[in-house]
Amino acid sequence: MKHVVVIGGGVAGIRCAIELAEMGIEVTIVEKQKHIGGKVRNWHKLFPSFTPAENVVEELIKRVQNCQNVQIRCCCEAENITPHQVTISGGETLNCDAVVVASGFTLFDARIKEEYGYGIYDNVITSADLEDMLNRRAVKLTNGASPRRIALLHCVGSRDEKVCQRHCSKVCCVTGVKQAMELKRLFPTADVFNFYMDIRMFGPGYEEMYREAQADYNIHFVRGRISEVSPTIDGKLQIKAEDTLTGRPLKMGVDLLVLLIGMKAGDSNKRFELSCHLRRQDSGFMQPKDSFLGNVESNMNGVFYAGTVTAPKTIGESLNEAVTAAHSVAEWIKHTA
Ligand SMILES: Cc1cc2nc3c(=O)[nH]c(=O)nc-3n(C[C@H](O)[C@H](O)[C@H](O)COP(=O)(O)OP(=O)(O)OC[C@H]3O[C@@H](n4cnc5c(N)ncnc54)[C@H](O)[C@@H]3O)c2cc1C
Ligand code: SF4
Repeated sequence: MKHVVVIGGGVAGIRCAIELAEMGIEVTIVEKQKHIGGKVRNWHKLFPSFTPAENVVEELIKRVQNCQNVQIRCCCEAENITPHQVTISGGETLNCDAVVVASGFTLFDARIKEEYGYGIYDNVITSADLEDMLNRRAVKLTNGASPRRIALLHCVGSRDEKVCQRHCSKVCCVTGVKQAMELKRLFPTADVFNFYMDIRMFGPGYEEMYREAQADYNIHFVRGRISEVSPTIDGKLQIKAEDTLTGRPLKMGVDLLVLLIGMKAGDSNKRFELSCHLRRQDSGFMQPKDSFLGNVESNMNGVFYAGTVTAPKTIGESLNEAVTAAHSVAEWIKHTA
């Protein structure tokens, strides 16, 4: 039986493994964390449908666990790859007929943007922290009170030359709108503001969500970037921004600031580039062979990509790409047999 190693047990890696297994190919998923499921394990409800993230992850895990020919190896980090061999932490090598790199993305570390006070001031959190608080039903200020004025800041660690992250992370505008709606559901009398550079609502149903957020939830959208955050003596946060539509500087006191952090290239990408000359883009994401006719192939025969390892993507896009990658792998194996 042919054998494929899938690096990364996020939604893309799992979906790819299921598809390969259904075509009669033996698969080993190598996952560095204790559990498979990737980042989506940490999310609460998913845009645009507000489907609980756990429904999606549990269904995928159930399906992959039912595949006889898929072996899942958690707490194993892929360190070096060639088209026929993956070396994992501890030095063990796994021989294979092809490799799918589905090692995903890394969350931008908001502490790098010191001016926003993450990790310094109370009640400055990231969008990933908010997902966790929503899952724990624990959205509150550090003093236990409910927030009455909340700001969400878009593009933190994306579209920002100063931190070498020039790309748009694609999913954070819609995440910001979704989170603003969830906050309004929890705290109906709170004032919620989204500070944005542009609103990028590209997917099906996203624009409708944006309109609903304004018309039905009374969420405020301010075009402008927050330049600085500082604590006040009454325990609030003062934000300074410029409203770029009116050209006026703006100062506002809020109880809670949510930083919508971007999707950075995965931490393993550099090592993969060095280990088998895989190409990376300037953004650090892996470079597919061709943007149109080879977006799941790499520049090395026998090494394929699935999901956010090549660019920021939604879950739907990552899953679709995973299926395409599995079929490209099967085709490749057939021709090299
Ligand atoms: C705050 C936030 C909210 C989001 N909400 C939504 C939403 O509501 N709807 C939506 O469609 N999308 C959403 N997304 C996007 C979604 O998270 C991604 O589309 C999805 O996680 C991509 O899955 P993936 O498998 O490509 O990558 P990941 O989820 O990053 O999974 C990659 C896996 O590979 C593992 N890995 C990495 N390196 C190695 C290695 N060297 N060896 C072994 N294992 C390795 C990682 O541990 C991880 O488990 C959101 C993103 C963010 C940041
Ligand atoms: S999706 Fe929106 S918030 Fe995210 S980087 Fe792009 S423009 Fe900024």
